[in-house]
Amino acid sequence: MAKQPKINEQKHQSRMQKLKDKVDERIANAQQEKGLLIVITGNGKGKTTSGFGTVLRAVGHGLSASVVQFIKGDWDCGERNILEKCGVNFTVMATGFTWDTQDKTTDIAAAEKAWQVSERLLKDKTINVVLLDELTYMIAYKYLNLGTVIQAINNRPTHQHVIITGRGCHRQLIELADTVSEVQPIKHAFDSGIKAQQGIDY
Ligand code: ATP
Ligand code: MG
Repeated sequence: MAKQPKINEQKHQSRMQKLKDKVDERIANAQQEKGLLIVITGNGKGKTTSGFGTVLRAVGHGLSASVVQFIKGDWDCGERNILEKCGVNFTVMATGFTWDTQDKTTDIAAAEKAWQVSERLLKDKTINVVLLDELTYMIAYKYLNLGTVIQAINNRPTHQHVIITGRGCHRQLIELADTVSEVQPIKHAFDSGIKAQQGIDY
């Protein structure tokens, strides 16, 4: 009985060594350096927070980052309050009032204005990370032209990272991206009648 754990330990060690060899081999093979296109999509909670988390990570390493938010509201954004103090520039589409009126012409004009800022960022070699928060909807609603967006992403500086968040990301952007994560909803507090919580939901 006393010897049994030892055999198991040897087995475990050899299994872990094999795993380590495989991981080491994959790390050794991944030598390419390039700016990544990252897409965080899906219906679950965590897309924008993931985008901001990456911006924070980049800024923590001394990289420069800019954020464009394709959102209609002008809600207080916790991440903005802190990231602006760290030199991260924010552009918010924020058509505000039109959320109620659903004025399509005003919405398109606002989307185009925010996109113009995005295009400038996507040409700027001094910006290491660009977060295009909720961009997916602008393409889904056809407020922005998919081809124009893809062209700007393709022509960006080689080492610039771009993060796109939002539900229902267009297939062509998913194909173009280097890393794509789909956040799946299992549960959300809102469905149990709990209102959006400051510091958690915004
Ligand atoms: P977060 O900003 O928390 O990372 P998100 O970007 O994944 O969320 P969005 O679709 O942009 O999600 O929605 C923003 C707001 O809606 C947040 O307050 C978030 O908590 C809430 N939300 C996200 N997913 C769901 C869901 N499945 N059901 C209800 N509310 C949700
Ligand atoms: Mg979001």
